[in-house]
Amino acid sequence: MKQADGGFAPSYNVQIDTDAKSGVVVGVGVVQAGNDFEQLEPGIERGEQNLGKTAKKVVTDGGFVSRETILAMNQRAIEYIAPCVDEAGKGQSSYDGRGVSPEYHSSQFVYDAHSDSYRCPQGKILCYEGKEQRHMQVSYRYRAQRSDCQGCPVKSQCCPGNRVTGRSVHRSEELAEVAEFRQKMATEQAREIYRQRAQVAETPNLWIEAKFGLRQFSVRGLRKVGMEALWTCVTYNIGVWIRLRWRQAAVALPA
Ligand code: SF4
Repeated sequence: MKQADGGFAPSYNVQIDTDAKSGVVVGVGVVQAGNDFEQLEPGIERGEQNLGKTAKKVVTDGGFVSRETILAMNQRAIEYIAPCVDEAGKGQSSYDGRGVSPEYHSSQFVYDAHSDSYRCPQGKILCYEGKEQRHMQVSYRYRAQRSDCQGCPVKSQCCPGNRVTGRSVHRSEELAEVAEFRQKMATEQAREIYRQRAQVAETPNLWIEAKFGLRQFSVRGLRKVGMEALWTCVTYNIGVWIRLRWRQAAVALPA
């Protein structure tokens, strides 16, 4: 996993699911995935198993946001709140910004839906080559003939570093569900809900690190690490329970 210093190191990825109302940890999982893109559905299932019911609303940070996660939450009828990764303008072409003149940026290539191809500023055709899944979009790649580009008089302005293939451009498409998610996350109401995430989700993490001093597991292997993480969260929950009981008792005291 990526480390705070920017490097990568073998790590355990601990997933802690927290109930927003009480602050109680309701699920703990340990995986060896290098990122969180596929970890929300297992978290939902942990919650169902532990609580006997499905969450109505789930908030995560941007590390969980992907097309698949948005579709999965839609399918489960769970309201999903998370920051939107703005991919607009990203990866329109691997060439843009690499010494390409503005008049040969991808935006200058004209798409023809009928033939599903692009026409470059020199009138050459870029045919469909394949598609790539991005986090929130599907990106379709189009490429010109090598012979067209290698002999082109403006090649040095259009794809200067390209000696092997023809120039490519990408066309991105967003699913209706992703567009809806994006629109929702642009509303103040959704943003307000998201602003509460840090306190709810990060408190157990910070508490466990600061108060219990757990910065590294004392055992190895998913099963053993899972047990250590679970016992740590149980200990944390006992502290939360004591606080909740104390608050109730304080409210019940006569004035
Ligand atoms: S280098 Fe290729 S894509 Fe670019 S303008 Fe020339 S023919 Fe068109």
